[in-house]
This record gives sequence, C-alpha cells and structure tokens, in this order.
Amino acid sequence: MSDHPSHPASWYAASAHAMATHPHLEGAQRADVCVLGAGLTGLNAALELAEAGYQVIVLEAESVGWGASGRNGGQVIFGFGCGESKLEGLVGRADAQRLFAWSLDGVRMIGERIARHQIACDWRSGHAHVAIRPRHVVELQHWQRQLSEHYNYPLTWWDRDQLHANLPSERYLGALYDANSGHLHPLNYTLGLARAACAAGVRIFAGSKVLRIEHGARPVLHTQHGSVRCDFAVLAGNALVKGIAPQLDRKIMPVGTYIGATAVLGDERARALIGNDMAVADINWALDYFRLSADHRLLFGGRASYSNLPPANLRGVMRARMRRVFPQLKGVDFEYLWGGVIDISRNRAPHWGRLCDNVYFAQGFSGHGVAATGLAGRVIAEAIRGQSERMDVFARIRHRDFPGGRALRMPLLVAAMAWFKLRDALW
Ligand SMILES: Cc1cc2nc3c(=O)[nH]c(=O)nc-3n(C[C@H](O)[C@H](O)[C@H](O)COP(=O)(O)OP(=O)(O)OC[C@H]3O[C@@H](n4cnc5c(N)ncnc54)[C@H](O)[C@@H]3O)c2cc1C
Repeated sequence: MSDHPSHPASWYAASAHAMATHPHLEGAQRADVCVLGAGLTGLNAALELAEAGYQVIVLEAESVGWGASGRNGGQVIFGFGCGESKLEGLVGRADAQRLFAWSLDGVRMIGERIARHQIACDWRSGHAHVAIRPRHVVELQHWQRQLSEHYNYPLTWWDRDQLHANLPSERYLGALYDANSGHLHPLNYTLGLARAACAAGVRIFAGSKVLRIEHGARPVLHTQHGSVRCDFAVLAGNALVKGIAPQLDRKIMPVGTYIGATAVLGDERARALIGNDMAVADINWALDYFRLSADHRLLFGGRASYSNLPPANLRGVMRARMRRVFPQLKGVDFEYLWGGVIDISRNRAPHWGRLCDNVYFAQGFSGHGVAATGLAGRVIAEAIRGQSERMDVFARIRHRDFPGGRALRMPLLVAAMAWFKLRDALW
C-alpha cells in the first residue's frame, strides 16, 4: 500500500515538486532508531543518523511535511524564539553564547544541505526585523549592540531611508538587517530532505500514526497495523502530537497561525514591494511576516488563533493586515490562504532533551524552527552517537508546564495574548 493523504492546500502544495509516496507501516519491524514525525526535526535527525551508519525508520501520521515544516513562512533566522536575554537568564551568558553560536550552525546547515543534496527550494539571502514604533527602534538597536558586543554577530542597522530603498512601506521606521538569514520554499526543502534521507537508507512510512510507545531497554512504537522495536526513539511530532508523552504535551501550547499568497504580481510589481527580495518580520508580539515567492507573489503571514478554529473572517483580516503594510495592494486578494500550528513553550525557549536514556525529543520552537530544527536533528543524532555535550546544554534550560492542563491553558493564553496585543497597539 502506498497511498497517503494529500498535503493540505497551500501555495506550497500547489508548487511542490513531485512528492514520493511512502508505504504504511505493516507488521513488526526493527531499527536502530525510530523517529516519530517526518517534519524538519525528524528528517534532519534521520538523515544525520543514517549517514552515520544507523538503520533508521521514520513514522509519519500523515505525509512528509504535513505539519508546520511544509506550511511555514520559510523565513530562515538565527537564534531562538525567546531571544538571547531570556536565554542568559535561563542558563547564564556563557551557555547563551554557545547556544547562539550553535543556532548559526542551523542556518549554515540549510545552505550545506541544499548544495550537497541539490534541493531546489528557491533559497534567497537576506532578512530584516523591522520597527513599527519608536520603542521598536530602541529595542532593535539595543539588540544590535548586544549581538555585536556579546555574541560576535554584527548586524546592519538601516534607518528609515535606507530601509525604504528596499521596502518602501510607510509603516516601518527602520530595520535590523542580516545578510546570512534568508528564505526558502519550506515544503520543497522538507521533501528534498526526505529524498536525501531515503537515499541514505532511511525508511519512511507515511499514514502511520504512532499510537503509543512501550518504554524499556528496546522501546517499541506501535501504529494501527505495525510496530517498530528500536534502540533509540526520537519524538519529533511537534504541536500535532498528542498523548504519546503527556509530560511533553504540558510544556507546549499549540497556536494556529496563517499565511496568504497573493495572485502572481509579476516581477516588476513584486520588486516594487521588496526590492532586494529579503524576508521581513516585525517585532510585535502578534507579528506580521512576509516575503516574495519565486513566482512573484507576496506571501504574507500573521494572525494567530488560540482556539482550534480559524479566526472569523480570516481572509478579510489578513487582507487588511497586508494592506496596512502595502496600501498599493488594494484590490489584490489572496489566491491561497492556509494555516498551521506552532508549538509555543512558556518561555519561548527550545525544549529539547531526553525523556529517558533511549528516548529523545525536540519541541518548543515557538515559531522559530526552520533553521533550529536542523540543529535539533543534529544535536539529537550526536547524543544518540554518544556525544551529548550540546544536548546537555539544551537539556539544562528549565521549562514549566502550562498551568491548568489542556482545558485551562487555552483561556489563560488567550488572556495573556489579549494583553500583548493591546501592548502592540498602544505603545
Ligand atoms: C504558519 C507557520 C509559519 C511559520 N513560519 C516560520 C518561519 O517563517 N520561520 C521559522 O523559523 N519558523 C516558522 N514556523 C515554525 C516552523 O515551521 C516549525 O518550528 C518547524 O517546522 C517544526 O518542525 P517539526 O519537524 O518539529 O514539526 P512539524 O513540521 O510539525 O512535524 C511534525 C510531524 O509529526 C507528525 N506527527 C504528529 N503526531 C504524530 C504521531 N502520533 N505519529 C506519527 N507522526 C506524527 C505530524 O504529522 C508532522 O508531520 C512557522 C510555523 C507555522 C505553522
């Protein structure tokens, strides 16, 4: 059997390279490592381990890239969702500096993987964090000094005129520009990683949801029609996994977020929006992020939802947000509109570690995972190979449960988000 559910509708799915079909898991199988989830975390870990000689099986509930990895904004950014100051508070400056340096490996790995495995995924360099309000200018300039003085990572400050030469939107007052970050087609990158993993010997089973794990000296992952006994298991199910490890579920909040792709604007009109083809994100709590696609559309993301339902009038709200940035797009609508779920940890720091000696996990990317997932996969693979120095630093980051369990954590987050949105609006 090789059918699996098609990928959810999006511009990415519409412009995806041919998707290989992967069989369902049938019967009892054996592997050195069994990975739950064929997103960027799981595939990066699988690829690293297969290249090191391990027999690896990946079990995916739906299809490769079904989760956030195949739907995201495609913005490849250094660092972690929580920022360096938060990490300094959690693990001290010295370890925060090491974590930051490793995050740059995550960005570099993308370029290396694209080149080595010839993954056609429309990579473009350049990323700007933009300021909407004067306090954002102060924050971004403080961040620039912090990164330069303590993290040996100089970024370029653009004042309003310099920014407007590339991004002529009246909404922005300045930007912190990074030439090493950039953007890509995330589904094609994920499919390319899956291809590379299969070429290295990884066996991927799609439509094969893990229903439970039997822990022990050799963990066993059970699906409806089969099982995999392994020496090590890797849990990379992110926000979509439920009930496999309740102690992990409690540490993250699944939050819906949305992206629209306009109709094709044409080269000239697209370049008039973002002249240097960089990716852009503002620094509001409820942020807007956007970039051009290779076929000259604007991909515009934003608008979070804290219930399981898409927000009312999503299209209208997203259009209004896009026009607030680009009033010249009056009359332009989204040809594609889709959503995905991000895994926010309470402190927005990465939550990576061991559940027990032979079960590893990585979650809590907090909307900042395109580059960090590559690092997560590599750090997990290193730990399985017996080099756990980097994993031990990540595992030292303290994480707290969302209070109130599944029933209460959503209303609490809604209340917290209402406050942050008010703050975005007022200051
Ligand atoms: C709309 C959106 C925009 C984003 N934009 C950006 C961005 O621009 N830049 C950035 O850095 N980050 C962004 N992110 C975050 C980034 O996409 C994620 O951090 C990253 O893709 C997480 O990868 P993952 O492999 O851990 O999880 P996923 O890609 O979600 O993969 C998990 C996989 O596990 C599978 N699974 C779940 N449960 C089971 C089970 N029981 N058995 C088997 N399989 C299971 C799922 O089907 C899924 O395929 C965005 C996220 C979203 C949703």
